[in-house]
Amino acid sequence: MSSDIREKILTLRRQINFYSKKYYVDDDPQISDAEYDRLFYELVALEKEHPEFYDENSPTARVGGKASEKFEKITHTVPLQSLTDVFSLEELAGWLEKLEAEYGQLSYSVECKIDGLSAALHYEKGRLLYGATRGDGTVGEDVTANIRTIPSIPLTIAYEGILEVRGEIFMPKAAFDALNAEREACEQSLFANPRNAAAGSLRQLDPAITAKRKLDIFVFNLQVCDRSFKTHADTFDFMQEQGFHVIPFRKIATGFDEIAATIEEIGAKRAGLSYDIDGVVIKVNDLAKRRAIGEGTSTPRWAVAYKFPPEQKETVLENILIQVGRTGVLTPVAELSPVRLAGSVVSKATLHNIDFIRERDIRVGDWVVVQKAGDIIPEIIASRKEKRTQELPLYEMPQFCPSCHEPVTRDEEAAVRCTNAACPAQLMRNLEHFASKNAMDIAGLGPALLKNLKDNGLIATVADLYRLQPEMLVSLERMGQKSAENLIRAVNDSRARGLARLLFALGIRGVGISTAEALVRKYQDIEDFFHVNAEELCLIEDIGEITAASIVDFFAHPGTREIVNELKALGVKTTANGDITTDDRLAGLTFVLTGTLPNMTRTEAEALIKKNGGKVTSSVSKKTSVVLAGEDAGSKLVRAKELGVRIIDENEFLAMIRA
Ligand code: NAD
Repeated sequence: MSSDIREKILTLRRQINFYSKKYYVDDDPQISDAEYDRLFYELVALEKEHPEFYDENSPTARVGGKASEKFEKITHTVPLQSLTDVFSLEELAGWLEKLEAEYGQLSYSVECKIDGLSAALHYEKGRLLYGATRGDGTVGEDVTANIRTIPSIPLTIAYEGILEVRGEIFMPKAAFDALNAEREACEQSLFANPRNAAAGSLRQLDPAITAKRKLDIFVFNLQVCDRSFKTHADTFDFMQEQGFHVIPFRKIATGFDEIAATIEEIGAKRAGLSYDIDGVVIKVNDLAKRRAIGEGTSTPRWAVAYKFPPEQKETVLENILIQVGRTGVLTPVAELSPVRLAGSVVSKATLHNIDFIRERDIRVGDWVVVQKAGDIIPEIIASRKEKRTQELPLYEMPQFCPSCHEPVTRDEEAAVRCTNAACPAQLMRNLEHFASKNAMDIAGLGPALLKNLKDNGLIATVADLYRLQPEMLVSLERMGQKSAENLIRAVNDSRARGLARLLFALGIRGVGISTAEALVRKYQDIEDFFHVNAEELCLIEDIGEITAASIVDFFAHPGTREIVNELKALGVKTTANGDITTDDRLAGLTFVLTGTLPNMTRTEAEALIKKNGGKVTSSVSKKTSVVLAGEDAGSKLVRAKELGVRIIDENEFLAMIRA
């Protein structure tokens, strides 16, 4: 039991360290703030219950990030602490009660909590000497050159002594919308929210980029000053006199009721503000009392942050569009009357599938409640049926693919799917998969070149790849004679890959490499699949009813038959070669799988490891020989790196088991 708890604590620490590095250092959040807070406070609770597992290096004992190597480091004169969060008014009341039981009635500064990133600005002799990010709270990054480009930060002030202020650098909503619109037009990745955009913009190596990003600051604390003040509110007046842009909304409140009313007032203003706030900060106003109350390791005891629940809005569902994904899945997408939500304007939201629509009884014309999952992806959480003024028809999924007009099928996961191998919506994905290393392995034929070939009308199906001639290619941009010849050679070489690789390359749902191998052990010619039925296929080990049905369905499409015949006529081998081994070459090796592999499911990879004599376990330890990692690998990958365990990707794995 105790070892289970220890393992859980260690896992949470590893996960939190991983996500917080992504968030603070790489400006690339992987999970929502709410999800992060859930992990963080689960760890806090476990550590509190089990002090025997105390570790001074636990993420709960320190402030978020770490200064990046990209910048010079600055040791803060006064540490930049974080804040303890409360997520409800009850929790807030508990905090107040405890504090006032010890120190008597207090008055508080109740302020907007700006959603940006913390920075310290240091002045001497009336001039800005440096500006630094928070980093780990003790050591931050020297971003002075970038700070200087923010127009609302005074470069000189009247006060001549040593002065340091702390504030939140943020990107106003309008600047964020314009920046993302510009990035979208240039096909660049979008920032998840204004906070993420502000962090990415301040931590640029080129200040000219920061200067264009329209950042702003709200100062909220006087960190260092020779002058003495009685209250926090007095320091605000002083900072304002010096020309700082200070927190615009703040109120002095006494007692729970006044504080709760101010929180409500701030909450009501939230949507109309030109910048994002994610909560309200409540701080003891009297500075002598603050000193008496003191600080914890990473947060002051005299302040707390009340976090708003995820923002929700109501809007009208104007229409439902159908998108055909690269895998053939038909996804219903809601077209909404545009509404501003958690930092950006939302006009579309996924409706996932027909079950999702039915469960929530969502109909075109309804008022619906939208929320951003993970502050990033908008989703509809409910329809407001009571607002219907007339009977609205039930939504039905289309019976035919809107892209190729072939009939669609519905699978066990409520997904409606187009299984036509020749469907244009799936073409790019099919081409990329077909040419990829573990499929037909056409060297040099990556997504960019495929797109180029497709856009120039040179390929419309996978069979067209085998019709390419050098003279057709030389007119393409960035394609010389030599590269054209190399590509043709690579295409030629791929003709001989054999049936197993070809079956996998065709991208039949449920048919990964190992299933393709299993099929080829029984059927040696692609023609066999035109006559086989699902019952027969189910007799093969590893093939269940669902995969069997998907194989039959795939070969039943006239489009598939046509492509197979063309491939055959163009000299592509459609009979068996036998190229993946099944011997004991992995004997003695223990594998751990993590993340999503590009072409294989975990079950397939596991089956291949076992067939070749290897072992698979679920957690990484010193005994692990190899970690097979795919995309979005999380804590297991972090652990493998810590322990120096060999890490391989799918290609390296296949190289290990290929004859
Ligand atoms: P925090 O955001 O909960 O609160 C502290 C910060 O509030 C201070 O650093 C300060 O900069 C800011 N602030 C804004 N207005 C303020 C005001 N008026 N007075 C005082 N401070 C004010 O704490 P944090 O340590 O900055 O970040 C932790 C939070 O970051 C987590 O709660 C989580 O929501 C988020 N996070 C998310 C991920 C993720 O992967 N999504 C990872 C790490 C952290």
